[in-house]
Amino acid sequence: MAARERATALRIVTGGIAQETNTFQWQPTTLDDFQRPGFGTLARGPEILALGGTGTVYGGVAPAAEELGIELIPTTYAAVMPGGRVERAAFDALRDEILAGIAAALPVDGVLLVLHGAMALSDGDDAEGLLLSDVRALVGPDVPIVVPLDLHTNLSDEMVAQSTALIGYKEYPHTDMPETGDQALRLLVATVRGEVRPAMAHTRLPLIAPNQSMVTTWQSPLKIAIDRAREMERQSEVLAASVFGGFPFADVPFGGISTVVVTDGDPALARRFADDLAELCWQQREAFTIEPTPIADAIAAAMAAPQGSVYVLADVADSGASGTAGDGTAILQGLIAAGARSAAVAQIMDPEAVAACMDAGVGSTVTLRVGGKHDGLHGPPIDVTGVVRLIHAGDFPLAGPMGAGMMAGRGRTVVMEIGGPGGIELQLTELRGHPSDLNHFRAFGIEPTQRRILVLKSAAHFRAAYEPIATKVIEVDAPGISTPRLTTLPYQRLRRPVFPLDLETAWSRSAAP
Ligand SMILES: [Zn+2]
Repeated sequence: MAARERATALRIVTGGIAQETNTFQWQPTTLDDFQRPGFGTLARGPEILALGGTGTVYGGVAPAAEELGIELIPTTYAAVMPGGRVERAAFDALRDEILAGIAAALPVDGVLLVLHGAMALSDGDDAEGLLLSDVRALVGPDVPIVVPLDLHTNLSDEMVAQSTALIGYKEYPHTDMPETGDQALRLLVATVRGEVRPAMAHTRLPLIAPNQSMVTTWQSPLKIAIDRAREMERQSEVLAASVFGGFPFADVPFGGISTVVVTDGDPALARRFADDLAELCWQQREAFTIEPTPIADAIAAAMAAPQGSVYVLADVADSGASGTAGDGTAILQGLIAAGARSAAVAQIMDPEAVAACMDAGVGSTVTLRVGGKHDGLHGPPIDVTGVVRLIHAGDFPLAGPMGAGMMAGRGRTVVMEIGGPGGIELQLTELRGHPSDLNHFRAFGIEPTQRRILVLKSAAHFRAAYEPIATKVIEVDAPGISTPRLTTLPYQRLRRPVFPLDLETAWSRSAAP
């Protein structure tokens, strides 16, 4: 780059912290968790730019920065598997790194903060609002701050107050993280260049919804509103329109579905469109209810299916990507009771069982008590006997479509074969995982297209990779802290009334401005 260009290039500083908090998970998320490769991502400086081309937000941001000819100044970006509340000390350490990076870069023309939107702390519900207000205080009121966010954002007033524009993913599974990063950076740069003047409005509904009714691989109630948001974005005066499904397992006052519309200098239009999107969701509030299938019925249907069928039984209530322990046993117990064959289970977290299998060695027959040890909310430990078929370090690359180019790490992993060859292949792992990728089987020598039953501890992200190979997907009614049966969860902090906990909840759109 010529010296003259360098002198005039816009300076955009970037970084962020991304975690989705299940407040019903007792185990806090620590700094160690962020630092565990494949479980967390901790990128500093040029490591952030190296995420260009991956299936992450920075996968889109880094190439867009190059194309726009801006100087993208990376600070620290930390992401981790969903889990319990983030320890305040971990948040503070990461926040301080980001703030120090921004302070060192000043003066800057803009800030791109990459956040999730549903992170809660050991001593607070609104981590994103806190981080945004700290960044705002540092850069002052005139520097634009744009934030790409997860579709599962629980939107706080503070997040809106401290930012210039918020933009959410529009796909669930989140296959459009790079596109959202690209859109956010372009909006930020256009704002800095004075080409647009963002005016943002948001609407928060008294409505919580299970993840399964936010999925965009079918015409879910949330997708109907998201499709309308895409239409709005085709109008030149609309810079961004987002529908956030909320993360229902974060028991925070501002949880639930919300909408954000950013227009070019037209606050009244932003207000009207945010309400329009919210109204679309509210009108369908009954349709967000999900009725999962009883375990025995799901297994019986899979076993009765024609030869060559692949049935995905989604253990939606024990989804690693929703912050559960991933050690639920209910479906495994059902498989054993039904004498299921050609079944593969990804996965049950049980470091003790992994250690026992490793002590015994490959080829040994072992009898173990597996799973159900973390919080007792996902079925009791069960006794199983089988042969140790494989011991693996547990790190493997993701093939995508979601997260392509990133590594997954679940700690040491064992494949145990129950019921002899062609029976049940059970993966035991040291860390909880999120089986959303075909490599969650292939890495361990199991070909998912060749199994009749695949049990996945995943709420919905698995659909990107598994719908194309599945004869049928069944959301199974097992117990757990990511259950779609929201009315069974012990909410304490969520504002009330809220639908569907309070069926008489009312909502009406803002009075016309
Ligand atoms: Zn999400």
